[in-house]
Amino acid sequence: MRSITTLDELRAARLSLDGTVGFVPTMGFLHEGHLSLIRRAKEECTHVVVSIFVNPTQFGPQEDLFRYPRDIERDLKLIAPLGVDLVWMPTTEIMYPQGYQTWVEVEAMTRPLEGAVRPGHFRGVTTVVTKLFNAVQPHKSYFGQKDAQQAAVIRQMVKDLNFPIEIVVCPTMREPDGLAMSSRNVYLDPEQRKAATILFRSLSAAKELYETGERNAETLRKRMKEILASEPLAQVQYVSCADYDSLEELTEIKSKTLLSMAVFIGGTRLIDNFVLE
Ligand code: AMP
Repeated sequence: MRSITTLDELRAARLSLDGTVGFVPTMGFLHEGHLSLIRRAKEECTHVVVSIFVNPTQFGPQEDLFRYPRDIERDLKLIAPLGVDLVWMPTTEIMYPQGYQTWVEVEAMTRPLEGAVRPGHFRGVTTVVTKLFNAVQPHKSYFGQKDAQQAAVIRQMVKDLNFPIEIVVCPTMREPDGLAMSSRNVYLDPEQRKAATILFRSLSAAKELYETGERNAETLRKRMKEILASEPLAQVQYVSCADYDSLEELTEIKSKTLLSMAVFIGGTRLIDNFVLE
């Protein structure tokens, strides 16, 4: 496993990789969710490239860019046994040098949900992922269902811009009590950590209703909100029952559906989702 920083090193190293290349972009502070993407890439491709870059352009001015958890040494130890060929850790100056002025924007599907409450977030994501794709030139790239809208936006971008890259979306890895793994979970104190299971419990309650035959989207949204309201530490930002592909809010469930939510537990913003097939 080689860890590299500069674009020249990355390009030279990439040229030496024959066969298929699987790519896993991350912001580091790795957990089992990230590792599951790396393992899947390793199963499906000849070589695996991982990037670690906390992308400043996807954080809003009031968000947690500066306190986002970082521990490169720990990350490299976690990756070491997985058979990864290259770990690329570019600096902000490499990704956004002085005078940088080019952006990639996906339109309609970045407007609802995360896009509505995090203006500019997806513009930062699609721009950095484009730059990472151009540098790494992978055959396949691996994303988590945990960030459902991000995966959908990247799929749309790859299709619209003719990237010759297959996007593979992998299941959300969870703690034993259902909390979706996230680098941000370290912000939670023990009491908040307990309260944070309310997202999983609320999604599970809505799924249960769906499984007993309920198809009214508002009834599912109401159920999720009721459960969330039972947790005094939870402050709901949005709760959604939307079409899986367009991400538009539904009245009635007829096809593949995304239940999703963003909830503050104390100062920590958590997101989670379930897919109803
Ligand atoms: P991040 O480092 O948060 O930008 O995440 C990097 C990649 O890991 C993204 O594709 C995420 O969707 C994915 N990911 C994050 N958390 C999980 C999880 N709990 N399960 C599966 N994938 C995840």
